Amino acid sequence: MILPGATLGLLGGGQLGRMFTVAARTMGYEVIVLDPDVGSPAGAFATEHLCAAYDDMAALMRLATECAAVTTEFENVPASSLEIIAQHIPVRPSATAIHIARDRILEKRAIRDFGLDTVDYYVIETDADLEVAIEAISFPALLKTATLGYDGKGQKFVANASELVSAFHQLGSISCVLEQFIELSCEVSVVLARSVCGHIETFAIAENRHTDGILDMSIVPARVNPEIIARAEKMARILAEELDYCGVLTVEFFVDVNDHLMINEMAPRPHNSGHYTLDACLTDQFQQQVRTLCGFKPGKTDLTTPAVMVNILGDLWSGGTPAWDALLKYPGAFLHLYGKKEPMPGRKMGHFTLVGKVPKKLLETAALLKKALVQTNNSSLD
Ligand code: AMP
Repeated sequence: MILPGATLGLLGGGQLGRMFTVAARTMGYEVIVLDPDVGSPAGAFATEHLCAAYDDMAALMRLATECAAVTTEFENVPASSLEIIAQHIPVRPSATAIHIARDRILEKRAIRDFGLDTVDYYVIETDADLEVAIEAISFPALLKTATLGYDGKGQKFVANASELVSAFHQLGSISCVLEQFIELSCEVSVVLARSVCGHIETFAIAENRHTDGILDMSIVPARVNPEIIARAEKMARILAEELDYCGVLTVEFFVDVNDHLMINEMAPRPHNSGHYTLDACLTDQFQQQVRTLCGFKPGKTDLTTPAVMVNILGDLWSGGTPAWDALLKYPGAFLHLYGKKEPMPGRKMGHFTLVGKVPKKLLETAALLKKALVQTNNSSLD
């Protein structure tokens, strides 16, 4: 077990890393963050920010020698960097789990191998693969790059065979998966934590609403039938066990109009759809990341109140700095800003969580507060 006072290493210093760092430091750990961005949101809270590339050998060796264990806030860290560190100290989750999660082809294969459902899909690596897929799939479909896609990036909606061919070439003819486009009844996610000894705690399942491929809001408890909730939780547990996973794992699901549950993807880390846990659960997802990294069992995950989490994107700055007072005046709203200076459209700048007893009212209030945040003047970001 790694005790408070020890130093933990973190690869990646965005908002997820920032919230991990806050949790770890609150619990008495030191944190060294490796991130090439001088303005790294996590760097501001870290004991030390190593501002270097993810494959910088000197930086990796500093983590390996000064930290008791290392974790990551995103899956696109080079596998070789994780392997180098893992020769010296524990890396949780493992380089293997991260390697699978970062590649849609490996991920979908693993999910199917474990007997779990995904959307129907075809691996597209060559023009010959395109021909096979065109014969088999019924359009419309979504073509997604196997790696480096997030928040709807690296994917194209294709309505027919010719659109598919040009989409593949536009994406640079790199490895892709072609997915059947399905009519969704809703999307849900399970965030769980698994200790090195295999003890699992799951959080209440979130119902997720997306706009343009980006998470807009999470509603907890999810408004789906209890049988779906039980099945999603079971599938997420199977995935964690089959991967012999250690750390926080997020599993995102599609629910189609026939209540058929399919795994969309997994994230080997805390997740945007788990941000509600910061304000509505006994232990939050970042404390779980610290606990499991340090060899402890996950904490209790009881939901203390219904909650709605709303993302704050850079778009909200179009008329000037959002009217934070409109939100902070409301006692049931919790504001989290990530310390990013450039509010670009689609960029996640923060989120707020609303808590209250009546879920329907929460949704109405969330919509009103989001509207109230938008300024009509042109004050600049400070
Ligand atoms: P992804 O990056 O794969 O999670 O996709 C982002 C969002 O696009 C998902 O959360 C869904 O809202 C939508 N989406 C992705 N794949 C599909 C699909 N095969 N059918 C319908 N909607 C999809």
